[in-house]
Amino acid sequence: VPLVELRRVTKRYQIGEKPVIALKGIDFVIQPREFVAIWGPSGSGKSTLCNLIGMLDSPTTGNVLIDGEEVNGLTDNARSELRNRNIGFVFQSFNLVPVLSALENVMLPLQISGAPVAEARERALQRLAEVGLEEHVAHRPAKLSGGQQQRVAIARALVTDPALVIADEPTANLDSGNARRIIELMLKINSRQGTAFVFSTHDQRLLESVKRRVQMEDGVIGSDSMPPRSAQTR
Ligand code: ADP
Ligand code: ADP
Repeated sequence: VPLVELRRVTKRYQIGEKPVIALKGIDFVIQPREFVAIWGPSGSGKSTLCNLIGMLDSPTTGNVLIDGEEVNGLTDNARSELRNRNIGFVFQSFNLVPVLSALENVMLPLQISGAPVAEARERALQRLAEVGLEEHVAHRPAKLSGGQQQRVAIARALVTDPALVIADEPTANLDSGNARRIIELMLKINSRQGTAFVFSTHDQRLLESVKRRVQMEDGVIGSDSMPPRSAQTR
């Protein structure tokens, strides 16, 4: 079963008089363990696509399936449950809680889902070690560099063991060296642990080591360097 499947998905925004068609009929599949870059200029639909894959927004027409389940028609609770079970998020602006330490930030998703504190702490420490921050677990976000904050956010996204991490422009607020290191970290986690990743960027220089590159062009997929078989044969 594909992790994510979009079938003829469109997304239309209307603010005032003028509608914007942000996605114009997208067919798109992500298989388990894939690493996918979505690239294209600002306004081409990358964020909209990420939001639909993450069930943060609904399509205007078409179908979104997550882990084989049709998302349309699910109740809000069922959708949250499907999301929490399958997907972790990383954002452009890190979105860490400023008054909490790195460790407490990473523990948070587990505590919200009711895990015992000791277990949450152990798993969070393990994730922070995997992103190279074992020496910074007690620091608040403001004490960390942008690259370190994004590593905390990646550890937080991974702590519930999601099948897929969605990172919308995760490197937009980082310098080019840190940006490259964040992509390398995600690639390493993908190959070691099999977590699927989809990340968006407008920066073509970050695509060098990524095999599957999906190019967005004004609301359509302009090219896909490695479409999975199930998408090719449709
Ligand atoms: P990208 O991430 O590639 O910059 P977006 O998905 O953010 O592209 O935007 C695609 C198009 O949809 C743009 O024209 C943008 O202005 C428009 N858009 C995105 N989100 C909204 C929204 N919430 N309301 C209205 N228009 C939006
Ligand atoms: P990105 O940097 O990922 O392309 P943007 O800065 O374009 O994101 O948009 C940030 C947020 O604002 C997103 O949630 C997007 O859906 C929303 N947005 C984008 N364009 C518009 C718009 N024209 N009107 C309202 N909201 C928008």
